[in-house]
Amino acid sequence: MILSNEFIFNDENFEPQNDCVIKSGPTVIKMGRGQMGKEWVVKRDVYCFKITIEDTHRNTIEEAMEAVSRLPILYLVGLEIVSDENENGLALYKDLGGAAGHGGRTYCNLIGLNLGVIIHELGHGIEQEVRLSAESDLLDRWEKEAKNVDSVTVSGYGNQNPWEDMAEFCKVYAVCLQTNKLEELKERSPNRFRIWEHCMKLVNSTLRNKKCADSEDVPLKPELPVQDGSAEETLVTPPDEYEPDSPEVEVTSKSSNYSYVIFLVLLVILGLVLFFFILNLLFSKHSTVRVRVNPRAD
Ligand SMILES: [Zn+2]
Repeated sequence: MILSNEFIFNDENFEPQNDCVIKSGPTVIKMGRGQMGKEWVVKRDVYCFKITIEDTHRNTIEEAMEAVSRLPILYLVGLEIVSDENENGLALYKDLGGAAGHGGRTYCNLIGLNLGVIIHELGHGIEQEVRLSAESDLLDRWEKEAKNVDSVTVSGYGNQNPWEDMAEFCKVYAVCLQTNKLEELKERSPNRFRIWEHCMKLVNSTLRNKKCADSEDVPLKPELPVQDGSAEETLVTPPDEYEPDSPEVEVTSKSSNYSYVIFLVLLVILGLVLFFFILNLLFSKHSTVRVRVNPRAD
């Protein structure tokens, strides 16, 4: 049985709420992939996130906000995950080299406002947020405890590898959430269901603070520097084919450059300390000899 055939994605199950509000913008910016665009900070419920649109893209901010207002509230954290400093939030590009979208912890790039694609890409962001900040064995567990154990597949696309399987499950879960079929989904794929709900709970509670939970008028809070915490990212970077054009690779190499410089400085300091220690030893030996020699000379 294939879950995505059983629980078919249909835009009609995702009613637009039209409850997005622009907090600030547009700001002219150079987007993550180098193109010029405009960026807005948008609020929905207690969530604040960015929407960025490449110049001359066919979609407007109003259309983008309408699409975002269709997302289940639980999934808005996915937009916050990709809206930290130097990130573009939901980013619309005119071209992504043939892909409909790219998703990760630091970006949700799309060529259009296809809701199924948005949810799939947010699934990658949620998965990476959990794996890179808390549970480095997440994909292993997904593969061994869920994908290989539950007697169903999610979709042909998901069969490629555990992370695509997870992003596809994110989409099926959204369908079931909107159509009151979560119990059925849990029966069909209990282990995927358990791990996915665990991830959703983590990102919606302990791992992140909702950016606009405090006050109606709080804009995006100042963020930690990008390199913060990326040491773990270096250790658990997924296989090469994971996100072929991921900006994360750049972040990782920048941060390892920093560590390299710190390491060198420490090495030099250690070298200097040793040098003076040996010099001191030699000097004190020398003066001991002199003390012994001098009385005889007198
Ligand atoms: Zn994917």
